[in-house]
Amino acid sequence: MRIAELLRRKEKFISLEFFPPRDRALWPAFFTAAEKLCAVNPLFVSVTYGAMGSTRDNTMEIVARLKNECDLETMAHLTCMGASAASVNGFLDALVRAGVDNVLALRGDPPADGAACPFDGSGNFRCAADLVTLIRARHPSLGIGVAAYPEGHPEAPSAEEDLAFLKRKLDLGADFAITQLFFDNSVYLDFTRRARAAGIAKPLIPGILPILNLGTIDRLISKCGAHLPPGYLSRLEDAHRRGGPAAVAEVGIAHAKTQARDLLERGAPGVHLYTLNKAEACVEIVNSLGLGGNRGRGR
Ligand code: FAD
Repeated sequence: MRIAELLRRKEKFISLEFFPPRDRALWPAFFTAAEKLCAVNPLFVSVTYGAMGSTRDNTMEIVARLKNECDLETMAHLTCMGASAASVNGFLDALVRAGVDNVLALRGDPPADGAACPFDGSGNFRCAADLVTLIRARHPSLGIGVAAYPEGHPEAPSAEEDLAFLKRKLDLGADFAITQLFFDNSVYLDFTRRARAAGIAKPLIPGILPILNLGTIDRLISKCGAHLPPGYLSRLEDAHRRGGPAAVAEVGIAHAKTQARDLLERGAPGVHLYTLNKAEACVEIVNSLGLGGNRGRGR
């Protein structure tokens, strides 16, 4: 089912993002974590593509298995930078054959190490809007999500133009947007106000990342243009000095719980959790919101 249809039916929700482990030896542990997370009854789950070294085939296989074996509504991420239309069409056709009804249409980034882009092609796509156009034309019934940037995309000429580019993706046929991670809710609330004023009416789902480890956070957030509020950063650093990684995770989980609860209370349609495949922490966050519960087709 198209996620847009689920969004119309459900009041408040949680959705989850997974990344497919590149090493197949890690897949059994991945599915164990996914099963635990899916017990909290997410509205949908999405599976990244290209991020963390995952491959196109891994994304396809995992998104199809989560849909067909775990009975979840799923969305495959798809990037188009450096891709040929033929390779993108091949991926989309396979997705539809596998029964997956939704795709997150992304431009993607050039590989940091200068390696070839995930799809080796003639580079027919300039931006995610071109991918939205192709998907709508080839598979009119597919649900389409796109990315949004409350703090602005790092390459955007200005916040206004970034918003105009988001509007274009939605006007071309995307159903909703999921935001880049952020840690200060006023950033999202201000963004949604500006988006509504610019004529964007479709759902803008906030993306939340629970910080569980200080070691990886610099790399993660420097790439995406999000900012760690200084007060939050010093609490994480204090925790690290006091009690190491476990204390950091405690602070990160508490912050994510507060952030998610506040967003839901202040009108966000739901919360998309960047799980990094970490089951226990994310289950704890969802349970604190009272949105979990037994799986079933409550969607
Ligand atoms: P676009 O919407 O094309 O925007 C990219 C830049 O171009 C922006 O600065 C925008 O302002 C500008 N722009 C847009 N249109 C035009 C135009 N017509 N003319 C000039 N400039 C324009 N990456 C992965 O590799 N794999 C993933 O699975 C993945 N999942 C993600 C999930 C979410 C929810 C988010 C928020 C991001 C994700 N990303 C992922 C990261 C994403 O690929 C990068 O942020 C990328 O740099 C931009 O992708 P986009 O789809 O937002 O691009």
